[in-house]
Amino acid sequence: MLALGGNAMTSADGRARPEDQIAAAEVAMDAVAELISHDVEVVITHGNGPQVGNLLVKNELAAAVVPPVPLDWCGAQTQATLGFVLMDALDAALAARRIDKRSAAVVTRALVDPGDPGFVRPTKPIGRFLPADEAQLLVEHGEVWEDRGEKGWRRVVASPEPLDILDAPAVLELIRAGFVVVANGGGGIPVVRREDGSLSGVEAVIDKDLGAALLAVLVGADVLVVATDVPQAVLRYGTPEAEPLGRVTLSQMQAYAQEGHFASGSMGPKVDAVCRFVQGTDLPGVITSLDRIVDAVTDVGQTGTVVVAD
Ligand code: ADP
Ligand code: MG
Repeated sequence: MLALGGNAMTSADGRARPEDQIAAAEVAMDAVAELISHDVEVVITHGNGPQVGNLLVKNELAAAVVPPVPLDWCGAQTQATLGFVLMDALDAALAARRIDKRSAAVVTRALVDPGDPGFVRPTKPIGRFLPADEAQLLVEHGEVWEDRGEKGWRRVVASPEPLDILDAPAVLELIRAGFVVVANGGGGIPVVRREDGSLSGVEAVIDKDLGAALLAVLVGADVLVVATDVPQAVLRYGTPEAEPLGRVTLSQMQAYAQEGHFASGSMGPKVDAVCRFVQGTDLPGVITSLDRIVDAVTDVGQTGTVVVAD
């Protein structure tokens, strides 16, 4: 199970024009095709932060002309668009290596608890910063916005725990049929179950790394690799005493996380995701950079930060 971060879908400077996204996807899918050429079965998931951010701006600017769509719809739209971009890039990279495999993307729903504390106190900042008066308008429309100081106001939404990846059975069938599957992008489209058993999308975003950990368990992955833009998780990150981590036991990694070594909006959820996978499976979890995924998977333990069961 491979979780791709922002740098697999946007350029290094964060630009997210269509051509930037396609170029980044081509680099990422070339690495994935290389991995597949080593006889590795790969399931891909990906983030969608910048893409959802762009959709929210369109929502805001066009609200008087076309009805804004809810956040779960934005999640679904980015799963579809990024799925398509990744499939095109991956199919081309596989064909270039004469690998007879095809990709498939699955629009994927993740179940969350309507009673998740995230819904009472939203904490996840999304979208762009706005001046107070413009934010006020959206607050009147029922959104939660927070004063983030100098940069202005920003929308905050719930980031509930994923409890189940509801479309994991479809992902499994496609894997068994030989497809390279792209699934659960952006952590999954958050849905809750109504009293009558039916599902309803909710305005929230799920952490893509936590969604990846759960899907990895459900599809029976041998290893979870979180591919980002740094080669390792680092202790005392950004200080002169910085210390990159290699092989670490689960309990040691949990202790480092407790000590606050991993920033909450970035490395924190990756460490959390990898620890959850190791805890649930006794199999290894890896955090490393995209350009090292072949080594990370073909020789587990030699590349990146590798969390292993105690
Ligand atoms: P992605 O977009 O790949 O999901 P993020 O940008 O959210 O990734 O997280 C990766 C970033 O986390 C790194 O670029 C780095 O700046 C930051 N980071 C924060 N704390 C740490 C740490 N302790 N070790 C390594 N990187 C860290
Ligand atoms: Mg990033």
